[in-house]
Amino acid sequence: MKGYWLNCEKCNKDYTFKEMTEHTSLTSFLWNEFLDSRCDQSLLTFKCPVCNGLVRITYHFPRAERLTVKVKHIVYRTCDEDFYQMLWETYFIHEPDKPVYDFKYISDCNATGLNRPAIMAEKHLQELVDLFNLKCHKFLK
Ligand SMILES: [Zn+2]
Repeated sequence: MKGYWLNCEKCNKDYTFKEMTEHTSLTSFLWNEFLDSRCDQSLLTFKCPVCNGLVRITYHFPRAERLTVKVKHIVYRTCDEDFYQMLWETYFIHEPDKPVYDFKYISDCNATGLNRPAIMAEKHLQELVDLFNLKCHKFLK
């Protein structure tokens, strides 16, 4: 699949955002639901109607070989209502026990920032890490 989709960890079934949420895309889901939630991590997983497994946001990361990534946590911070910087905790499906981190941004319900790294000042990076530790019970420094 292209872009972002949803995939069951247990039975590997793929879903579109439209099938699992009231939104047609990840951008719409983030902008219209998640970014109003005070980083509610429970919004990021869904229950598979086939096997009751955990369904997660999924995407490809292009390297020499294309790798599939699943999203465990997302936290965000904002300076204004049109621009959010995000820290995503993810994992490659071939190494589920090793977290990897992805920094993205979203601006005005536009998907562009989901495909580019976020750039941020040190204090904003620290804010995101602190928020991540608080919301996800982690100890990143
Ligand atoms: Zn399933």
